[in-house]
Amino acid sequence: MPDPIYLDHAATTPIRAEVLDAMQPFFGPRFGNPSSVHRWGREARAALDEARDRLARCLGASPDELCFTSCGTEADNMAVLGVWRARRAQGRRAVVTTPIEHKAVLAVAHEVREEGGEERLVAMSASGSVDRQSFDALMVDDVALCSVMWVNNEIGVIQPVPELADIARERGVVFHTDAVQAFGKVSIDARTMPFDLLSLSGHKIGAPKGIGALYIRRGTPMQALMFGGAQDRGRRPGTENVAMAVGLARAAELAVEERAHEWEKLAAMRERLERALMDRIPDAVIHGRGADRAPHITSISVPGTDSESLLMALDLRGVACSAGSACQSGSITPSHVLRALGVAPDLASAAIRMSIGALTTDACIDRVADLFPTLVARARGHAPVPGR
Ligand code: PLP
Repeated sequence: MPDPIYLDHAATTPIRAEVLDAMQPFFGPRFGNPSSVHRWGREARAALDEARDRLARCLGASPDELCFTSCGTEADNMAVLGVWRARRAQGRRAVVTTPIEHKAVLAVAHEVREEGGEERLVAMSASGSVDRQSFDALMVDDVALCSVMWVNNEIGVIQPVPELADIARERGVVFHTDAVQAFGKVSIDARTMPFDLLSLSGHKIGAPKGIGALYIRRGTPMQALMFGGAQDRGRRPGTENVAMAVGLARAAELAVEERAHEWEKLAAMRERLERALMDRIPDAVIHGRGADRAPHITSISVPGTDSESLLMALDLRGVACSAGSACQSGSITPSHVLRALGVAPDLASAAIRMSIGALTTDACIDRVADLFPTLVARARGHAPVPGR
């Protein structure tokens, strides 16, 4: 059997050798606690401060505006719930978000509702972009925070975050963006772009799972969600994970250095894949194709197939992709993203997400471009004929 092909970089990425090298000493002799006053502690504190400085430089931020978290989900939770709790007493009881956010944002927006607030959703265009009129109408006086993801993790659509953040700021609404899929793909600079909070996750950019960060613009009202020591200015108590912070900073530096080149490389490979698949399966639908998209994600649905069987067939032949669906208690439910865009249920439950990255080559793309249409033909042969 030929080498397996990993087309699931939006789920997670392999850890980069440079990142592992940078982290290694902190699993060995440099094991100190950054809060200790002795030499081990001072050494750990210096490494943590340096990691914070380096990550801040990648975002155009000040080091004190960064908070290390355990993952992107934690950063999203802190931003939405932390800001809402800090502002609700001033009559700002609503949060605004989009129906295509990651569950890390949608579920915490539900929590706001549970705690007595209100959750409002922006309307979306069929191709996955924020409807500007709807967004504009929702930026009103009783909104504490608005959260709009920069790049969608299922279909790759890019939202015009700097412009949306600008409108929010004019109306006194704190603006958060989930940049977990955007970092290393789009240009991000807190000096020129008016977002107030931004979430990152290490494992999407070549660092290990278990580290993320939240950028918090100076002066943004926010309550801590955890209680304990004074680490990270009390915003996120708990002994800091020095090794992981060092790894995240190194991964972020590499991602920023390589961003422009990566974009071109990934865009060319994705175009090659999409063109080959559309040539061979003319009735296939590529979700979000009409919109501005990040170059590492393609989501494709073929009428008359279903994602669960196609994923299994691909996996049996060594190709790892994912569905545009969430697997809940053993049954595949169509993706909330595709449903929000008005995609018909049968097409939504046929979605396959292929996401490219460090492990992808043109040879991988060509193999998948040959294999996928064959599997589709087989699946369609076995599918019931509609109307009979
Ligand atoms: N936000 C987006 C857009 C994501 O794609 C993900 C992970 O898939 C997350 C948030 C959650 O990040 P983490 O896995 O670090 O919790």
